[in-house]
Amino acid sequence: MKTSNLPRLIAWAISALTVTLVGCEGATPGPQRRTELMLGTAISVTVHDQIEEQTFDAIFDRIGEVEQKMSTSESDYLTTELLRTNRNAGGDAVSVSPDTLEVVQRALEFSRRTRGAFEVSIQPLVDLWGIGTDHERVPGEEEIADTLRLIDYTQVEIDPFAATISLGRPGMGVDVGGIAKGYAADEAARMLRADGVAHALLDFGGNIYALGHKPDGSPWRIGIQRPFSTRGEYIGIVRVSDLSVVTSGVYERSFTSDGVRYHHILDPSTGRPARTGLESVTVVAAESIVADALSTAVFVLGLERGFQFVENQYGVEAAFVTEEREIYLSSGMEALFEPSGDAYRVIHGAP
Ligand code: AMP
Ligand code: MG
Repeated sequence: MKTSNLPRLIAWAISALTVTLVGCEGATPGPQRRTELMLGTAISVTVHDQIEEQTFDAIFDRIGEVEQKMSTSESDYLTTELLRTNRNAGGDAVSVSPDTLEVVQRALEFSRRTRGAFEVSIQPLVDLWGIGTDHERVPGEEEIADTLRLIDYTQVEIDPFAATISLGRPGMGVDVGGIAKGYAADEAARMLRADGVAHALLDFGGNIYALGHKPDGSPWRIGIQRPFSTRGEYIGIVRVSDLSVVTSGVYERSFTSDGVRYHHILDPSTGRPARTGLESVTVVAAESIVADALSTAVFVLGLERGFQFVENQYGVEAAFVTEEREIYLSSGMEALFEPSGDAYRVIHGAP
């Protein structure tokens, strides 16, 4: 939920809008698309059925609502429900809306399920590194150790009946940057379906939800970004319908200091950017919130443990891309994935 990549995002959004306008010139009406900068990224919804402009308005209002409730960026917001929650850490429980309650509740479940590889209370560490903000820097050993003492999902308490969240110790904080885009994408897909839409593609900054089929009845083809290349260069595609495809990659947000690159996916066991030999992990699941949380978690778990984890989850598939330019596919991913080009090599079977 940061806004540091704004100039690049604005350029990207303008080019996306141009494509839409060109697409609308033909005799038959083209798809309808709207793109806006929200949740710290460019969000684009493309619908291949006829819908009213008000439906787009309602969807983007809803995404804005998610951001206004759950952003933890003090430079963007004076207050949000999560900023209030974090400022009350160690004190009273804070009342939150059903949206925030659900996202934090799900984030806490993923923290438990991944034994803390996904960490709902990662906020102090995210803030310490400041990756993608104006205060990004490499912290010292001691600062990292001190901050790690504040990272503990078992001290995040949710009372679902009172609709409150409380954090056990002062200085603690929750961050939903690894899951909120997924929640918002699920909400947007639900609203489109309620409006009778059967063919749509939702792109929340590379966090994709493929609703229904392409208008010709075939599955959507979602490209998996080639790490460090310009957007639109793919190492392969996945064929999906009514599924979400989410990638967590080292190339998405990072900075370089003394020739070392530091990226935004932090390993709660070391307090540093996860170094697992992976460049990206793409997760496919029916719910975007699941694909989003698990792409972050599995990246932290690394190739061997992450692969095992995915194989043990029902309805979750993944593609792992390594620094050695290898692609490992979970058993159910083999049928969805189609490689493109030969720069990366598909390895069959478990790592
Ligand atoms: P994603 O791009 O979905 O993989 O999410 C990365 C974002 O999630 C970061 O920018 C942080 O806000 C947050 N984050 C980083 N590391 C973790 C972690 N281990 N668990 C949960 N959230 C994290
Ligand atoms: Mg994620």
